Amino acid sequence: SLVLGIETTCDETAAAVVERRSDGSGRILSNIVHSQIEDHAPFGGVVPEIAARAHVDLLDGIVARAMQQAAVNFKNLSGVAAAAGPGLIGGVIVGLTTAKAIALVHNTPLIAVNHLEAHALTPRLTDALAFPYCLFLASGGHTQIVAVLGVGNYVRLGTTVDDAMGEAFDKVAKMLGLPYPGGPQVERAAASGDAERFAFPRPMLGRPDANFSLSGLKTAVRNEASRLSPLEPQDINDLCAGFQAAALESTADRLHVGLRIFRERFGAPHALVAAGGVAANQAIRGALQQVATAAGTQFMIPPPALCTDNGAMIAWAGAERLALGLVDSLEFAPRARWLLDANVTTPAKFAN
Ligand code: ATP
Ligand code: MG
Ligand code: FE
Repeated sequence: SLVLGIETTCDETAAAVVERRSDGSGRILSNIVHSQIEDHAPFGGVVPEIAARAHVDLLDGIVARAMQQAAVNFKNLSGVAAAAGPGLIGGVIVGLTTAKAIALVHNTPLIAVNHLEAHALTPRLTDALAFPYCLFLASGGHTQIVAVLGVGNYVRLGTTVDDAMGEAFDKVAKMLGLPYPGGPQVERAAASGDAERFAFPRPMLGRPDANFSLSGLKTAVRNEASRLSPLEPQDINDLCAGFQAAALESTADRLHVGLRIFRERFGAPHALVAAGGVAANQAIRGALQQVATAAGTQFMIPPPALCTDNGAMIAWAGAERLALGLVDSLEFAPRARWLLDANVTTPAKFAN
């Protein structure tokens, strides 16, 4: 089947065409992503109103390019998928409405995809990965450990109780005067810093649940930064190194617990999979690899372009749902909030 996927929940305007073969394997025919980072950088974060307007301006052209590059005609599509949430509601409306219009005009099924579900299913687009597996999703808006049991069957094992991990990286960068988005900047500065200079807290360490907390750590960095102000370049590097080391240690501990809970409830996962922009961080990748090895499970990470927000992941999730007959009505309402657990549509079985 051939599915067009549309992603507009945050600051990427994206469209892609993906094929799902009957053996369950996938192929990307096109994957066009326009990042609005430049539009939002002057404000140090994503501005919802600017994002929504940019999606309106850009989406038609992006869809046309995705179709053109895939050399596919609308009438050849098996379905059209859009991220129907969770996310910034203005953008979600733009993407979902566009998908509905295409579905209506070309008489093809609509698949309303949960953005988090798309992150969760992406590793199956590039690899033959069987259920169940464990997903660690860390981006600007989300930090979650999810048991992926089947298409439409997800159990959230842990989540952040305050800031998302990417958000914490961005805020730390901002308070140290580094440009947006801060994650890559903090990683770069940390590479030349002394992680031992500051004794930052390791949030949630040893807690029996698999939740995350990042705002206390962020505040500790802020306090230290204002105590040292004005900051020398070495101070900035050391603060970044200390923050990253603490975030990393906390993450490793939380995943360790998450994998233990997974095993108790669902048996051994086939892999630990990382996704989201934070998964681009080399130090965090290293820590995840170690956690997976210690737990006796395989570590997998989709290619960087599929870890961050893109259209191919939406198209793929749409194709996986379509293969099970899970299509949606044109009345499907956009959702600013949409828990992955609320998305259970198939019975709990681990088969593909
Ligand atoms: P959503 O949360 O809805 O998926 P998003 O746009 O925030 O949307 P991504 O594009 O996947 O998600 O990720 C962006 C986030 O990842 C930003 O917060 C950014 O700072 C962070 N990030 C990117 N590279 C790194 C890095 N090397 N180290 C740490 N964080 C990083
Ligand atoms: Mg983004
Ligand atoms: Fe995302």
